[in-house]
Amino acid sequence: MTGRNRPDPALVKGWCPGALRPMETGDGFLVRVRLTAGILPAAIAGELSDLSRRFGNELIDYSQRGNLQLRGVSIENIHPLQEVLAELGLLDHDAAAEAVRNIVASPLSGLDPEAAIDGRALCAALETRLTEDASLHALPGKFGFVVDEGGRLALDDVAVDVRLAGLKTPEGARVLIQVATAPGHYQSIAVVPVEDVPDRAADLARAVIALRVGLADAPRRMPEILARVGLPALFEAAGFGEIMAEVTPLLPRACGAEAVLGDHTHDPAAFIGVGAPFGRFTADQMALLGELAAERAAGELRLTPWRVVLIPGVKPEKMPRIRPWIASARYVFAPDDPRLAVVSCAGASGCRSATVEARADGETLAPHARRLAKSGVTLHVSGCQKGCAHPGPALVTLTGRDGAYDLVRNGRAWDEPWMTGLTLDEAVAALTDLAPL
Ligand code: SF4
Repeated sequence: MTGRNRPDPALVKGWCPGALRPMETGDGFLVRVRLTAGILPAAIAGELSDLSRRFGNELIDYSQRGNLQLRGVSIENIHPLQEVLAELGLLDHDAAAEAVRNIVASPLSGLDPEAAIDGRALCAALETRLTEDASLHALPGKFGFVVDEGGRLALDDVAVDVRLAGLKTPEGARVLIQVATAPGHYQSIAVVPVEDVPDRAADLARAVIALRVGLADAPRRMPEILARVGLPALFEAAGFGEIMAEVTPLLPRACGAEAVLGDHTHDPAAFIGVGAPFGRFTADQMALLGELAAERAAGELRLTPWRVVLIPGVKPEKMPRIRPWIASARYVFAPDDPRLAVVSCAGASGCRSATVEARADGETLAPHARRLAKSGVTLHVSGCQKGCAHPGPALVTLTGRDGAYDLVRNGRAWDEPWMTGLTLDEAVAALTDLAPL
């Protein structure tokens, strides 16, 4: 590879990675592929599987925002991989345009009869606006939008900066615009016609860019910016006029992995939900998803922010033939699968900062973790104190340090531990003590 093509590790480290801006990790470079509205055609799933074999280490991460990340790409393979991605239409024209495409869309966009709007069309229009207007490329790397159709699969639990939610009103379909004021809290600011959304979202983005200028440490996320400047300043900068008070509060409509896993073939928008064990597919598992979608369903997959892939269009009578394939590939399929209790990072085989095999140990610990609580994530296994895989608190966090684990209760990977220096067996014993058989 020429110097021109070689990513500058100082530049890429710690950045929100992309296909044009790979990030160096413990097992090579990570190349993130962003798919518009999370729509993954079956043929592209097959191609990504093939590319991870040719250029990576046959492992494909599934990010919390529904992106796919080819792992283990050597520096020599980055440019050839990018060339193939460009041929497949999966490469943006520049890294700045790629970085701004942070939109999570309703997983059944365009397929859900309960939806108020067509999220697929709105997502595409917003992406076009963000990528083609270079003045918006100064948005911070992780600044993100949600396009929620207001249909069956709600995205209330997805942490973003701006939410765009479809509404059914007597006047027709509208979009509620909300901004994040704190983690999990949103302020409704306007209800606008669907066709106005890209302009209003661009106004908000431009205001964020302007307001950050001059603020010490240049805050990156909407709650931090609002905490510093206040909502009225955002309204003024975005040209929204007065703060809207008359928007009726919406009831929370959280969804999540457990709600979409398994067989939903009798629903009006029929699908099956197949989870990535610990947020990662092998090349074989990705190839099989493509085959299932092409041969037994509607020819496409839908990516969700819950590390579950939906295969829409599966007919109920096809399920007896599909189930053995799903079982043999060891996908997560049952909502009570104990692997859903654990979140873990790559660990020593995927990150140089780790001294423990966080991912493999997470699998061993999963049955014990499930006993801590009946649903949700209970255990975070982190390769080090950085806690990349789960920045929030967990009932139990095991943090790798010098080849052993420190155990934190009701905290984060960097919090004060309750026990220190545990082997894997001692960690099992500690979890058993916390949740007796
Ligand atoms: S938490 Fe530490 S070990 Fe795990 S991926 Fe992040 S930096 Fe690497």
